[in-house]
Amino acid sequence: MAKTKYVYYFGGKKAEGDAKMKNLLGGKGANLAEMIHLGMPVPAGFTITTEVCTYYYDNGLKYPSSLESEVKKAVEKVEKEMKAEFGSMTNPLLLSVRSGARASMPGMMDTVLNLGLNDKTVKALAKNSGNERFAWDSYRRFVAMYGDVVLDLKPKTKDDIDPFEHLLDEMKESKGYKLDTELTTADLKELVKSFKDAIKKHTGKKFPEDPWEQLWGAIGAVFGSWNNERAIYYRRINGIPSEWGTAVNVQSMVYGNMGEDSGTGVAFTRDAATGENIFYGEFLMNAQGEDVVAGTRTPQQIEELKKNDIKCYNELLDIRERLEAHYRDMLDIEFTIQRGKLYMLQCRVGKRTAMASIKIAIDMVKEGLITPKEAILRIDPEQLNQLLRPVFDLKEKQNALKNGKLLAKGLNAGPGAASGKVVFNAEDAVAVSAKGEQVILVRIETSPEDITGMNAAEGILTARGGMTSHAALVARQMGKVCVAGCGALNINYRDRKFTVEKSDIVVREGDYISIDGSTGEVILGELQTKPSEVVEVLIDKTLKASDAPNYQMFAQVMEWADKYRKLGIRTNADQPDQCENAIAFGAEGIGLTRTEHMFFGEGKIGPMREMIFAFDEEGRKKALAKILPLQRIDFKGIFHVMDNKPVTIRLIDPPLHEFVPHEESGLEVVANDLGYSLSIVKDRVNQLHEFNPMLGFRGCRLGIVYPEITEMQVRAIFEAAIEVQKAGKKVFPEVMVPLVGNVKELEFQVEILHRVAKQVMKEKKTEVNYMVGTMIEVPRGAITAEKIAKVAEFCSFGTNDLTQTTLGLSRDDSGSFLPAYVQKNILDKDPFQAIDQEGVGFLMEHAVKHARKARKGIKLGICGEHGGEPSSVEYCHKIGLDYVSCSPYRVPIARLAAAHAALKHKKGKK
Ligand code: ADP
Ligand code: MG
Ligand code: MG
Repeated sequence: MAKTKYVYYFGGKKAEGDAKMKNLLGGKGANLAEMIHLGMPVPAGFTITTEVCTYYYDNGLKYPSSLESEVKKAVEKVEKEMKAEFGSMTNPLLLSVRSGARASMPGMMDTVLNLGLNDKTVKALAKNSGNERFAWDSYRRFVAMYGDVVLDLKPKTKDDIDPFEHLLDEMKESKGYKLDTELTTADLKELVKSFKDAIKKHTGKKFPEDPWEQLWGAIGAVFGSWNNERAIYYRRINGIPSEWGTAVNVQSMVYGNMGEDSGTGVAFTRDAATGENIFYGEFLMNAQGEDVVAGTRTPQQIEELKKNDIKCYNELLDIRERLEAHYRDMLDIEFTIQRGKLYMLQCRVGKRTAMASIKIAIDMVKEGLITPKEAILRIDPEQLNQLLRPVFDLKEKQNALKNGKLLAKGLNAGPGAASGKVVFNAEDAVAVSAKGEQVILVRIETSPEDITGMNAAEGILTARGGMTSHAALVARQMGKVCVAGCGALNINYRDRKFTVEKSDIVVREGDYISIDGSTGEVILGELQTKPSEVVEVLIDKTLKASDAPNYQMFAQVMEWADKYRKLGIRTNADQPDQCENAIAFGAEGIGLTRTEHMFFGEGKIGPMREMIFAFDEEGRKKALAKILPLQRIDFKGIFHVMDNKPVTIRLIDPPLHEFVPHEESGLEVVANDLGYSLSIVKDRVNQLHEFNPMLGFRGCRLGIVYPEITEMQVRAIFEAAIEVQKAGKKVFPEVMVPLVGNVKELEFQVEILHRVAKQVMKEKKTEVNYMVGTMIEVPRGAITAEKIAKVAEFCSFGTNDLTQTTLGLSRDDSGSFLPAYVQKNILDKDPFQAIDQEGVGFLMEHAVKHARKARKGIKLGICGEHGGEPSSVEYCHKIGLDYVSCSPYRVPIARLAAAHAALKHKKGKK
């Protein structure tokens, strides 16, 4: 058996890997190799594969035995290419050690730079570069990074201080410096010494002077960081499996901190916030890597590089074009300039906002770089949410600005509008938002430790950092509103407040602020938000499509999506206005009308309660007669709007006690209204009490015990249908019986259904096209689908109840344990959000197969909440459903998800 290759070299004109090898080499390693193939200037190095990471965790934190010699050989190759020697005291090669997972995990793993420096090599570096300050600046950075990352001295909580930062600040303060660049060689030497002392003090161990020990320490730290808390959390919220592992990239250093003719930067080949086709980036001269992204110095716009180094600027522009043409996508690049020579350190497909994602995809189709199919697949269905999301009401905002509420302006790093209470750390953001409050997380700068808080916040505001800072990147990925680099803010964590330069305003924890992530404005107070362009054009009709560029993009995406999708898209709606919205968003019918929602409407709850408290059938019928005309009006409204589209109406479903009040005062009102004594009412309420209402007297069980309820509802449906039909509309009612587990339940209800329908049609001398069907939402219903489908003309999976009954857990009681299940990886995802394909899906697939056996071409759909969740939509396509149904605002998402499903899986119905 051939020995497994664990190390892949890249450098000069040769690379053993390429962009297709992301699984093995991680994204960074694979793309570094690819850039070499494209003839771009990349410092030589090698990638240790993700398989080593897996091996390391599978084998008690040990490496494969051949790794050491492979690494040695690779270092030799790098030495040859770079004409320097690792550990040499005359011509030392320095290395960077960089993590690189398959999926990019921004900032999750720490990079160690300038590795190989020690008291001796630093002197050689000083001599060879002719720049002693640079050598010592590199050395102090290395010692600090090594201490933080490898020796674990990095602060663990927000209150801990980083010993190295602390020493650096002390030094700067005592000397009266503002910037790191003011530090002299002597200062830097002193810092190296005090850094090393700090390491000795905190760890009890000496800083390792041996370069090889440094190298293996750093490699181990990268593999170790795969399982740190932040990485685990990031993987969980992004659905990255822990088995993937990370690769380690070891690369020869190039120096952006060699002086004013050197620098480092990051850029996007297009604007990541708006998608505009412009080169967007930031750089700093005389700086090293993290300086740009960490936000300690505010970087310059890439345009400015023209002035500093026109040759490198033009070379970058050329690389930008070649990379886009090659990858056919927008990329995010990192580069360093060493004494006028440009080096590429990274490229990857760039993260972008929903807006940018859509714009870039559409533009690239126009530019002939990609096809509409590719464009569709590049837009994450969930991202559409951001296009539907509110913006600030312009008038209100202008008023606020006029009234001097504008606090400051930062960078428009994550578009959208957010208002909320100010919090100053991640823990508070989580705690306050858990109480249902909207919060804005305000930080000097964010780091990976803040991810939980960023996730919980409506918006993120930082004082430091650019468009490519951690805050900006992560916010865009999460779809959060973000204003970054708002330098006028003076944030004081300890006193939990911030002040604004040149103003005496103090904003404290709990105060309201509003941030506009599209303009960068930070505004004092709470601001009303206003619908997005899409909503204005489609729903509110307050904007013309021709005046709404974002809407036009939305419409283009929807047009493509509809071309490719196979699934029908319906909506869950109970009221005419909801139906109108859903149609505007592209719904092709109603998959679920919950009739019980109507009973709470104007004038209906009274007769409903009268029916519930009635002592006999006669009393119930009397009350139902009062409800009938009201229900008829409801249905008429819906049929009217849904002209020419199918409307699935579910018969009453919830247990009756949901319609009666439970507190004393409410019961008194009921007693009064109905003319009963309070004690009779109380007795009746007690009778209605159930130990387990979810499994109690509900669904078709109600219509079986009280057929008169079904009769009334069916009469209302058909009377309404006939009236609307007579008014010139086309109606297609599909009457749906809930909670059927036994075909005889269905037969019982269907008999009533046909009987009453016929009767009404005869009375009105009008025929209506209709269907009768059922929900499949208890396991027995799914298991006996063949029998059920002999009676049902259509079936719709009620995956909310089907999930509850299959997993044997109540959704409303699951809050106390389900999060722990997800956290402990017992469940991948919340089964009420994404269909549990292994369990619930087993029943669904069985039901689909057997229902179709009994009735060829039976119409099958889904109407649970899952119908608007992309992975569930994809699943519904795969198992061959005819349609999905979801809430109106998720209809566009479902359309796009259905197109994704159709493009990814050829199978599916139709
Ligand atoms: P991340 O995954 O967080 O982006 P990187 O491995 O890209 O981490 O490293 C962060 C920064 O360190 C890079 O953007 C680059 O500026 C700097 N860096 C990494 N490797 C080198 C190198 N070989 N020479 C110079 N700078 C480097
Ligand atoms: Mg990077
Ligand atoms: Mg149900």
